Amino acid sequence: MARIPQKTNDPDLDSVVDLESIAAPDQDTSPVVDLGSIVFAESKNLSPRRLTAVRANAPDMLILARIILPVLVFLYFYFIVHNPILPLSVIPICFILYFGYHLFLYWQARHNRANSKYIPTAIQLDMVAAHFAWLCDPTEPTPIMLIVLIAAIGNGIQHGMPAFRSLLHMTVIMAPLVFAIRFFFISILPSSYLFLFLGFFLLIYIYFLIGRIDSVQVQAEKRTTELELNNFKLQQLGIAIQNSEARYRNIFDNSSVAMVLIEENMRISLVNSKFEELTQYNKSDLYNKKRLTDFIIAEDLERIKRYHTKRKQKGGVAPIEYQCKIMDRNQKIKHVIIRFNVVPWHERIMATLVDITSSEQAKAALHRSTRKLRQAASLLTINEKRYRGLFENTGTATILVEKNLRISMANSKFCEMTGYNKDDITHKKRLSEFIERKNLYRIRKFHSKQKAKGLPLPTEYECLIVDKHKKLKHVVMKIYTQPGQAGNIVSFFDITKHKEAEAALQKAHEKLRLVAVIDELTQVANRRQFNEKLNREWNRLKREGLPLSLIMCDVDCFKLYNDNYGHQNGDRCLRAIADAIKKNVKRSIDVVARYGGEEFAVIMPNTDVDGALHVAENMRLVIEQLKIPNKASTVSPYITLSLGVSTIIPTSSQPLDVLIKDADNALYEAKNLGRNRTVIGKCHQAVSLPQVLRWDSNKPMAF
Ligand code: GH3
Ligand code: MG
Ligand code: MG
Repeated sequence: MARIPQKTNDPDLDSVVDLESIAAPDQDTSPVVDLGSIVFAESKNLSPRRLTAVRANAPDMLILARIILPVLVFLYFYFIVHNPILPLSVIPICFILYFGYHLFLYWQARHNRANSKYIPTAIQLDMVAAHFAWLCDPTEPTPIMLIVLIAAIGNGIQHGMPAFRSLLHMTVIMAPLVFAIRFFFISILPSSYLFLFLGFFLLIYIYFLIGRIDSVQVQAEKRTTELELNNFKLQQLGIAIQNSEARYRNIFDNSSVAMVLIEENMRISLVNSKFEELTQYNKSDLYNKKRLTDFIIAEDLERIKRYHTKRKQKGGVAPIEYQCKIMDRNQKIKHVIIRFNVVPWHERIMATLVDITSSEQAKAALHRSTRKLRQAASLLTINEKRYRGLFENTGTATILVEKNLRISMANSKFCEMTGYNKDDITHKKRLSEFIERKNLYRIRKFHSKQKAKGLPLPTEYECLIVDKHKKLKHVVMKIYTQPGQAGNIVSFFDITKHKEAEAALQKAHEKLRLVAVIDELTQVANRRQFNEKLNREWNRLKREGLPLSLIMCDVDCFKLYNDNYGHQNGDRCLRAIADAIKKNVKRSIDVVARYGGEEFAVIMPNTDVDGALHVAENMRLVIEQLKIPNKASTVSPYITLSLGVSTIIPTSSQPLDVLIKDADNALYEAKNLGRNRTVIGKCHQAVSLPQVLRWDSNKPMAF
């Protein structure tokens, strides 16, 4: 006996079915249901009651009785009774009328036109005829009285209680009337009273008998009606069952799921075409030969058994559904879900098998692709994390910029550099907003030029960026365009400190340079610078073949000045003299230098002797006009200068010293000539300039 498995709440117990629990002892009886073989067994209780009396209802019999009886009566009157109460001729006439009427009724009955209205008339005629016959019989006691009894009883039995009752009513009226008439015409013997009494008793008896027959008949008819009704219902039920069976068989056969009916012995007794298709077996190979468990692969069956062993230990009911693999005739494995439906009244198990092989394959494929996707996603996440980490910890301010220059990502370093937080920047700010206005303009202009020329754009820019507090920062901006990606990675290297250091260094260098080339006291070129410049100009003008002039000057009686006014005043005086000389030398290529102590020199490239003499003389006048008192001076109450001028076109044949020596000699000569004057050196003779005043050592000339 199979029991009805129910779902359990234990998820572990819910997946498989207890096949053992629904197994039952083997039986060889054919379990296949043949609905055609079903017969409706005749119940003893419902069998129709056998009737105790049979009602004759044959028109032939009736007409026979109605012929024979009057003939017998006629013969009785004709041969036995010689003096009837009425004339004998009346009797044949009555007989003919009576017989004619009954023939009419017979004819009506034969042609199925029997009308119930004729029945009372016929039986009443019978009764009237019988009483008439009784009336006519002169014998005492009369045997013809039996005719009345026969007519009443016969019609009563024939037509039932209502007809009999009406006959009795007639008899109750007619019989005393007949008896009275007979009493009037003939003497009534006592035996006739006995005969009447017996007749009366017989009628009473027949009355109850007919009543009984009627009630039995009514019951029998009622039962017959019920039986007929039941039969009709059974027929309808049979038709309905057949229709239902046909419908369910149709559903069963054409179901999209494989269905199998399993007997108590677990053998398959009915399958549909889907099951055949699933297992590749045909019905004749399955019915009573195979069990459903034969299809389940050993591994799954073992799993089910293990499960049930566990379930029995733990308790719980067997599930009705489980998923497993089955093997078809061609050794092909298929995934199925088997669902068991135990029909309680049927004691069989209906199992449905849903082929989920394709969905299992799809599920497996989906699972594989999901796993791959998850792996890829985790790889991506790792990579993303890695790159985000790199992006964050690159040590460089970095941003991701969309095509429209909008910033889609910024690292902490960039936020630190600009003073904004990430939320203020990401998807809100553009790169252009951070670049200083002029720089941006310059870059854009450069871009448009490059584009116009069809040249590539640079990837590195040195520019200024503006932070949140409008502070400018020097940066090197590097743009990296990712291949195949719309955005760019932009990195910023803050070079502000580097720039400041560079500027400081530059300043220091300049200072150093100035220290190296500038005289600290007078802020004109020092001796080293003088030598260098003079050397450079000498070589240049040697190549160009142009004149180079040199003015050498010395403060007159400056030792005395120091002695009188002190060294510090002496320094101030030297600074004033240097400033005055500088102002007087206007050409940028001319160089004023402190040659040493209180001596100054002016290098004048591309200057002929006249120009140089002019400048020298101006210098002397300017200093004189400064009117710096020098009371101890032997030449003037003020500070004065003595100057020596030399002009030469440098050549390879003579060294630079020639020029210096010549100017120095001229200066020496100016001192000798009394100071506060300018003397031209003798080298200028090589220059054919007519207006040049020459100094001759023999005939010194002074301005
Ligand atoms: P002369 O007219 O012949 O040139 O007479 P002098 O006194 O100028 O000549 P001398 O060469 O004998 O003296 C030069 C003086 O210049 C000596 C020194 O006291 C002074 N002197 C040189 N260099 C400096 C300096 O840097 N500062 C000051 N205050 N005086 C200086
Ligand atoms: Mg001197
Ligand atoms: Mg001097």
